[in-house]
Amino acid sequence: MSDYTEMWRKLGLNLENHAGLLGVLTEGYKNIYLSQKGRPKGMEYFDFVISEVHGLRIKEIYDAKQTGRKVVGTFCVYVPEEIVLATDGICIGLCAGAEVGTDEAEKFIPRNTCALIKAFMGFKLAGLCPYVQLTDLIVGETTCDGKKKAYEIFNNITGKVYVMELPNMKNEESKKLWHSEVVRFKDATEAITGKTITLANMKKGATLVNERRRALQRLSKLRAADPSPISGLDALLVNQVSFYDDPVRFTRMTNRLCDELEERVKQGTGVAPKGAPRVLISGSPMAIPNWKLHSIIEGSGAVVVGEESCVGERNFRDLLDENFSSVDEALEKIASRYLEIDCACFTPNDERLENIKAMTEKLHADGLIHYALQFCTPYMMEAYKVEKAIGTIPFMRLETDYSMGDFGQLKTRVEAFLEMLQ
Ligand code: SF4
Ligand code: SF4
Repeated sequence: MSDYTEMWRKLGLNLENHAGLLGVLTEGYKNIYLSQKGRPKGMEYFDFVISEVHGLRIKEIYDAKQTGRKVVGTFCVYVPEEIVLATDGICIGLCAGAEVGTDEAEKFIPRNTCALIKAFMGFKLAGLCPYVQLTDLIVGETTCDGKKKAYEIFNNITGKVYVMELPNMKNEESKKLWHSEVVRFKDATEAITGKTITLANMKKGATLVNERRRALQRLSKLRAADPSPISGLDALLVNQVSFYDDPVRFTRMTNRLCDELEERVKQGTGVAPKGAPRVLISGSPMAIPNWKLHSIIEGSGAVVVGEESCVGERNFRDLLDENFSSVDEALEKIASRYLEIDCACFTPNDERLENIKAMTEKLHADGLIHYALQFCTPYMMEAYKVEKAIGTIPFMRLETDYSMGDFGQLKTRVEAFLEMLQ
């Protein structure tokens, strides 16, 4: 591995803490990922990406910035990436999935804030996130209350936050509001990049994101096979990497992995024996490196066959209709594509229930685990309706955070649940 110390220093990272973080990440990855049996060869690329998570990818973005390209950081799948890519910008997800910088974060936000918000604040405050340092613009959105208010503080800290106003309902007035927000975001992106969005570059941006979605859809479908050709841990990792890898390379490597998985399905090769319990996970997003629940489930002999989550199906389920002949028309289609997303911050949100039912059927799930981060009120509340909607499929709700303190307790509960699925 190259020595990136000078680059990290230039980015203002806390080098000592950062070395500690990479050490923990490397060890955790070895224990959770590299110890899995029967992994597809195509996962070697994703292993490499993780080994270079703060190295080569940061260097690529760093170098791209020297050529004038701009970097937009996001926290939510409602932010239309097509617009950023149309201006030749780089879009990266900033959500964090590790318990880091909590003490620093709690100086600014209450203790009873979800782990995801604490982590993105903590990573920045502890000087551990090179991605935040590289951003020219950080896009927030008015989704849950925790994020909405945290963005105000994050703007005081970084001075780069731009907030999109996302409505909480999907009526005609809300659609108009959201469309105007998409147009405003286009103007802001043009202003920061100094580039004008044309029909040609809008088409290019739309194709890039749709191709990535298609690759992820393909991966999702392959998990319907029994035995599953890929572990839930590995599929989760691919989804996590999709938020910050170069989109063209990511799509190529994911499709290559899917070619291999298709062969495995034909040959009946799987990561768990045929008939192993199949679990669908639904709920709060699992940002990298949050692998806790998947490792518990798969370590107990079951296989995770899907994630009804933003780091999963919610991110790639709907394609953008690329059949537009002007930038205005593209923005209309973008607004309506993104408003299809079924986050629990919407009310009512019945389409999520329908989507979960459809996923359990398509993926032949034997049981559903509803996962919510502690203090994530939207998903914790909606778990009740999810349980009612899925009927007789065994259901369990879990609330946890990023700490390992409840690992044993969760494992006991998961094992008891899996026994019901045998
Ligand atoms: S769960 Fe909701 S707020 Fe969080 S990333 Fe997904 S869409 Fe955005
Ligand atoms: S996990 Fe829940 S509480 Fe946390 S940011 Fe997402 S929607 Fe908000």
